[in-house]
Amino acid sequence: MNNHELFQRALRLMPGGVNSPVRAFKSVGGEPFFTARAEGAYLWDVEGRRYIDYVGSWGPMIAGHNHPHVRAAVERAVRDGLSFGTPCPAEVRMAETLVRLVPSIDMVRMVNSGTEATMAAIRLARGATGRAKIVKFEGCYHGHGDSFLVKAGSGALTFGVPTSPGVPSAAADLTLTLPYNDLEAARALFAEQGKEIAALIIEPVAGNMNCIPPVEGYLQGLRELCTQHGALLIFDEVMTGFRVALGGAQALYGVQPDLTTLGKVIGGGMPVGAYGGRRELMEQIAPAGPIYQAGTLSGNPVAMAAGLAMLELVQEPGFFDALAARTRRLCEGLQRLADAAGVPFSTHAVGGMFGLFFARGPVRSYAQATAADIVLFNRFFHGMLKRGVFLAPSAFEAGFLSSAHSDQDVDDTLQAAREAFEEARAG
Ligand code: PMP
Repeated sequence: MNNHELFQRALRLMPGGVNSPVRAFKSVGGEPFFTARAEGAYLWDVEGRRYIDYVGSWGPMIAGHNHPHVRAAVERAVRDGLSFGTPCPAEVRMAETLVRLVPSIDMVRMVNSGTEATMAAIRLARGATGRAKIVKFEGCYHGHGDSFLVKAGSGALTFGVPTSPGVPSAAADLTLTLPYNDLEAARALFAEQGKEIAALIIEPVAGNMNCIPPVEGYLQGLRELCTQHGALLIFDEVMTGFRVALGGAQALYGVQPDLTTLGKVIGGGMPVGAYGGRRELMEQIAPAGPIYQAGTLSGNPVAMAAGLAMLELVQEPGFFDALAARTRRLCEGLQRLADAAGVPFSTHAVGGMFGLFFARGPVRSYAQATAADIVLFNRFFHGMLKRGVFLAPSAFEAGFLSSAHSDQDVDDTLQAAREAFEEARAG
């Protein structure tokens, strides 16, 4: 069965042929490939074509695909059973690991996705503060909970529905939005409505409108605002957690949120999310407290085994330094090639996460990110794909490197990019 045949079958069976929108290649055009196997820095499609992969399962595969250490841990766990419905030792080890490594987390609850983690975190914030409103940022994505599909990033932005039909206005009206990296706008909003705001939720490095780091002092400023107004600060580190640094963006920028959401890397490729924070907040979650949240498969033993093995790998000395250096080398190389080709282009790199914009930089805002040249991006995407390099199939997604990407992989990517930039410019 080849890619095209599979996609035709899929289109009849699943909305858009996929189980998550951006996978469908709708915004870049063409048809997605179907992956048969993944190893290290590479994916192989069902036709045997190899791709250097900069999507990394959208973030989790920070040590590369099918890492032997993670695979062995999963294989060991599977022998003892797939799900118990009682507490299991691996959950305790996972909680100990997260509490030890993430500065602001005293207690944690495991869930099954990033979406679940953010939904639970705002319920906790509302329950703990007795306030109803939440603040999010234009172009930030926090999963598909009703409250978050308001000026959302990622697929919602890619497909031009940043505020989704089906979200009742009763829910959307409680979500206030702000422009990212604009502290004055946040101050003005809090001055007006601060007493009604339960929480401000932010991606501390935005990764769902492409990749935009916070400007100097921005996260600190938001921390002060929340403290002043009695609102909780939630860092959504589903993407940045164990991606930009050990301990996440809060460790990198030295800012302590009240609550943190995690996902992706901490599951090692299995469906895992988590939320955690200050003890007196987390103790309000059932059954310790009255705020309800539960999950049949939460803390699943196989998923915990995968996540724990992945977290062991990222704790190896020098892991993030090497990853960040290679990510920078890729971005600097791309910038040089784009400049040489006369293509308007800029990049950001934070740890193992990067952004590529077909716009002169530095890109600091949603307005700038959405003004980048999408047509050029789409041509570049296909130029790279044709040459065996898989970038995220949307101009509004971050890219990811893994420790399995070698200097040779980066060089091969740059070689492909040299031609792809020329092609993109020529049209
Ligand atoms: N928050 C952020 C910052 C994310 O990047 C994502 C997913 N890309 C989510 C939440 C939602 O996670 P999931 O897809 O696991 O529900």
